Amino acid sequence: MSLAVVGANLDGARVGLRAVDGVIVALGPDVEPEPGDEVLDGSAHILLPGLVNGHTHAAMTLFRGYGSDLGLMEWLEQRIWPAEGRLDDDAVYWGTRLACLEMIRSGTVRFWDMYWHPEAVARAVQDSGVRASVGFPLVDGMDPERGKQVQAEGERTLDALAELGPHITPSLTPHAIYTVSEPTLEWAAGQAADRGLPLHLHFLEIEDEISGCETRYGIRPAELLDRVGALGPNTVLAHGVWMDQPELELVAERGATVVTNPASNLKLAVGRIFPYEAMRAHGIPVGLGTDGAASNNSLDLLAEVKLLALLQKHRQRDPKAMPAEEAWAIATGAQAPLLGGTPLAVGQPADFVLVREQAPALEPGHLVANLVYAATGEVVDATVVDGQVLMRDGVVEGEEEIVARARECARRLGVTDERSSD
Ligand SMILES: [Zn+2]
Repeated sequence: MSLAVVGANLDGARVGLRAVDGVIVALGPDVEPEPGDEVLDGSAHILLPGLVNGHTHAAMTLFRGYGSDLGLMEWLEQRIWPAEGRLDDDAVYWGTRLACLEMIRSGTVRFWDMYWHPEAVARAVQDSGVRASVGFPLVDGMDPERGKQVQAEGERTLDALAELGPHITPSLTPHAIYTVSEPTLEWAAGQAADRGLPLHLHFLEIEDEISGCETRYGIRPAELLDRVGALGPNTVLAHGVWMDQPELELVAERGATVVTNPASNLKLAVGRIFPYEAMRAHGIPVGLGTDGAASNNSLDLLAEVKLLALLQKHRQRDPKAMPAEEAWAIATGAQAPLLGGTPLAVGQPADFVLVREQAPALEPGHLVANLVYAATGEVVDATVVDGQVLMRDGVVEGEEEIVARARECARRLGVTDERSSD
């Protein structure tokens, strides 16, 4: 299977790109298609690396707009958790397809998921053609006995996900330290180490996590994670807004990655802006996530990256606090190798996007500044993952069916409003 992109603008020069079996084999001004290549015309396009969504709950597209404007715990306890109790494989599959559709349309090639029915998530990811780290939220309600059942289920799921091929990375995804007992956290860390898999969990999203941890364990959340072996170079910590100085030092020392989710933090009013300058000062790898569509409510990383940069400027009272180039590097995963973003280069996976050169938001010139401060996912015209064209000329195959089936599932779950149920 081979693909050629012709005449695309890369850093101001016209180039061609060839990919064979999902790998970029040639990139440069003289690269031409070869017989048998599928061809993408890039003559009105700019070639860019794909975006990486470092934290989401893809199938929560089903709950987009449901229970908006509630507090985090009220939203979870009264709306989301009861509705999630009614989920089945079919709903999660179509919710995830809808999420993948939205991500493909906005240039995301890989995401880090944490959600129920992970085998349905994985099937949806494979059928969509993108890449994802997949795991289900380990939750034992702080009950180690229940934790044993969760662990058995976790092992079975990891075995099943391991069979699924290169687009799926199974991962251990304990929900958070306030929903998972210490023995289950320790089990998850052990499994991740034994199987060489990433560990991905919510961490210091809300301030109450600190007092809860101190009351229960007498230590700070990062110390607890370290005690159970859950802090290491294969760990992705989602949020991290309430880390204190010693926690920053510990997380940096262990090499964990932190993923910030600006829109979700703002919408759920977590009360603090992600301390990026401290992360940078400690050399902590940082990625960008959208969180689920129930708390964002968009999966468009090109919209998210603007918030990322603006919030840091505002927080520091310094427009230089996060230049556009740095925000862009974070959105493409270039500042956090664990997240799996890849550069445009020979030998790298053929994961990339083409944006419309003449999209109004990208004119005139100043590409990176315009991508960060002006563009949304609307500027993306083609998305390629593993050398497969998932969107061409703004069209994703099967789009209508995906939207219709996801809507049907949301209605069945009783989470749509009256207007959308007629
Ligand atoms: Zn989350």
